[in-house]
Amino acid sequence: MERQLISIRWVVAGIVVGIIGGLLLNQAGGAQARFFELVALGADLFVRLLRMVIVPLVVASLVTAAAGLDTRYLGRLGTVTMVYYLSTTILAAALGLVIVNLVDPGVGAVLQIAELPKELREQKPPTFADLLRNLIPVNPIDALVRADMLQIITFSLIAGIALNLLGERAQSLRQFMHEVLELSMVIVRWVLYLLPVGVALLLMRTVGQAGFEVFAPLAKYMGAVLGGLAIHGLIVLPTLVWLLGGMPPWRFLRGISQAMLTALSTSSSAATLPVTIRTVEQELKVPSYICRFCIPIGATVNMDGTALYEAVAALFIAQAYGIQLEFTQQIVVLFTATLAAIGAAGIPSAGLFTMVIVLQSVGLPIEGIGLILAVDRILDMFRTMVNVEGDAGGAVILTNIVGRK
Ligand code: ASP
Repeated sequence: MERQLISIRWVVAGIVVGIIGGLLLNQAGGAQARFFELVALGADLFVRLLRMVIVPLVVASLVTAAAGLDTRYLGRLGTVTMVYYLSTTILAAALGLVIVNLVDPGVGAVLQIAELPKELREQKPPTFADLLRNLIPVNPIDALVRADMLQIITFSLIAGIALNLLGERAQSLRQFMHEVLELSMVIVRWVLYLLPVGVALLLMRTVGQAGFEVFAPLAKYMGAVLGGLAIHGLIVLPTLVWLLGGMPPWRFLRGISQAMLTALSTSSSAATLPVTIRTVEQELKVPSYICRFCIPIGATVNMDGTALYEAVAALFIAQAYGIQLEFTQQIVVLFTATLAAIGAAGIPSAGLFTMVIVLQSVGLPIEGIGLILAVDRILDMFRTMVNVEGDAGGAVILTNIVGRK
C-alpha cells in the first residue's frame, strides 16, 4: 500500500496561503497588482501540467479497463454507472429547484445586468441530435488532438472492447496500453508533489481578481447555490455512499479530500481527473479496473454540482425578471438542467455556457445570464468540488453494487 504522497495538511496550508495572498493581492489592485502576472503564470503552469496528462490517461484507462473485463461484467458495470450518474444528477437538480423555491432569491432583487461575452451571446444550444452525433468521432486522432473528451471516451471504449475480443492476438497492444497508463500515473505522482503550491497559486489568482463589491446584491442567490451544494455534498452524497457503498461518510470525505481541494482550486473536473483517479484508488481502495472505467466517464458527464447550480440559476433569473414558472415548466428545467450538466465540459465556466439550453427551454432571456456572471467564477469552484465528489462516490457505490470481478 502506498502512503499518501502529500499530507492533506500541506494542501490545506496551501489553501489558507492562497486565500490570504489573494485578499492581499486584491487590495493591492487585483489584476493590476505587481505580482499578479507572476501568480497567474505559476497557476497556469500547474494546471497545464495536470491537463498534459489527461488525454493519455483517459485513453489508457478506458482501453485497459474495457480490454481487461469480462464483457458481461463490463455491460453490467456500464449500465449501473449510467443509472447512478443520471439519477444523482437529476436528484441534485431537483434539490436545487426545491431550495430556490423556498428561498426565492430573485424575488424583488435589485440587480445590475452585465453584458455577456460575445461567445455566450452567439451561442446556439445544440439539439439532442447534435449531442448524439458529437458522441462519435469521425477521426479519432482529431478527437485526441482537440481533447474532445466525449469522443475520446466513445472511441476508447469501442477500441477496448475490440482489444478484449482479440485476446492473445493483441497482447503487445494491451501491454503497451498498460505501460502508457503506468507512465501517466508516474507523471501524476510528480505533479501531486506540487499540489500545495499549485492550489495556493490558483486560489491567489481567483481571489485576487474577484470583485467582492458585486457579491452583496447576489448574496441570497449565492447562499441558495452554496446551501444546495452543501446539502448535496455533505449530506446526500455521503449518505448514498454509506447506504449503497458501505463506506462511512467521514472516511469517504477524508479519503477524497485531496481531489476535492484540487477541484476547488482548478474549477475543472477534467484537470482534477488524474488526482481523482489516484485518490479513489489509493485512499478509497476502489479496484483500479472500476476506477479506470467510471472516473474518466464521470469527470466528463457526471456533474451533480453543475445540475444543481443550473436549476437554481434558471429560476433565479426567472424570479428577477418577474416571470413565474409553472410546475410543468419547472419539470422542464429539471430535465434540461440535467442535460446541460451532462453536456458541460469539465472545464471552468462550462456550466455557464450550457445554461443557454435551460433558459431557452422555458423561454427565459439569455441576457439573464448577465445577472449572475459576476459571481460565477466563485460558484464554479464549489460546484466543481461536488462534481468530483459525485464521481468518487459513484466508484465506491458501483464497487459495492456490481461487485468485484
Ligand atoms: N467547472 C465545472 C467542472 O469542471 C463545470 C461547470 O462549469 O459547471 O466540473
